Amino acid sequence: MTNISDYSPEQLTEYFKSKKIPSFRTKQLLEWVYRKPVFKFDEMTDLPKTLRDDLAADFSLYSVRELIRKVSIDGTNKALFELGDGESVETALIPSGDGFNYTICVSCQVGCPMGCAFCSTGHQGFQRNLSVSEIVDQVRYFNALLGSNGRISNVVFMGMGEPFSNYDNVIRAANIMNADWGINIAARSITISTVGVISGIRNFMREGHQFGLAVSLHAPSDQIRNRLLPYNKSTGVDKLLKACRDYVSITNRRITFEYCLFKGINDTREVADELIDKLKGLNCHVNLIAPNATFDHGLQPSESVLDFENYLKDNHINVTLRKSMGSDIDAACGQLKSNSYRT
Ligand code: SAH
Ligand code: SF4
Repeated sequence: MTNISDYSPEQLTEYFKSKKIPSFRTKQLLEWVYRKPVFKFDEMTDLPKTLRDDLAADFSLYSVRELIRKVSIDGTNKALFELGDGESVETALIPSGDGFNYTICVSCQVGCPMGCAFCSTGHQGFQRNLSVSEIVDQVRYFNALLGSNGRISNVVFMGMGEPFSNYDNVIRAANIMNADWGINIAARSITISTVGVISGIRNFMREGHQFGLAVSLHAPSDQIRNRLLPYNKSTGVDKLLKACRDYVSITNRRITFEYCLFKGINDTREVADELIDKLKGLNCHVNLIAPNATFDHGLQPSESVLDFENYLKDNHINVTLRKSMGSDIDAACGQLKSNSYRT
């Protein structure tokens, strides 16, 4: 069955036309689908009953189905969603602290082909890309769950998968999240995080998207980065940073670098000096992350996170230490994986 969020506003208008239903119903339906999502067509109370029945016969309302949901002591929610073909992905919902606004961490692939050394998603291998509606519906579903008690005001593509190896669907999904007829989340509040797919960064730059861009750098040299992120062997740090510099100068936007600190690997003074040198003069922000526990990959969390942070600060690099949320329910960065791969 077709999922309702797979239809564009134009296709919905066509659908209504074929049923001789006035076009103003499109706007009403879009409101229910994206602005005040509900769990059943029957709850769309300003649509005639016959239309609600027709819609329920012709469309499914969500392409994701909640299998399990866990709530962390810090308020983070993690849902395991089943997809139409029986595959599954996880999504995390993180409270902002004001009691109303939330950040959602969405997945864009079942598994991930990049195989980063410390990431559970990479460890499970790659199964498939998510469709546009499977990405958008993670947000719609959690908004329906929040109802009038909250709203999703920030989206980060930091769940399962590499956004730039599912480029078209990710950009389409982000556009629907941003559209005024869609979920209407500000473009600057939608961030795409990439392991460093250069063609993706360059397309993203050329197409002039207003979404935020984060690059998982984790190391300033090929020697270290190749070990942590094997995908680096096909690109190299210098080529990646050149693309980042071009992005910043062409778009005039700041870029975020994620940097997960591992003991004795990428947390030494020597590595910090190389990082400072390579980021010099670049309008960027470095997000330091203490690694979350995943599988037994043999890398130890750094014991000098604060030193590293202060040293970057002393050297005029914008830097913050990212607070990890939801680690007690395995909902933190790098901990998301499909149920069947749970060990
Ligand atoms: N594939 C994209 C986005 C998803 S991963 C990317 O790699 O950027 C989101 C972030 O979580 C990335 O910065 C990734 O490096 C980080 N991450 C992966 N495993 C982690 C772990 N065990 N602890 C902390 N962060 C982790
Ligand atoms: Fe994929 Fe990102 Fe995990 Fe690397 S860190 S395996 S790119 S999801």
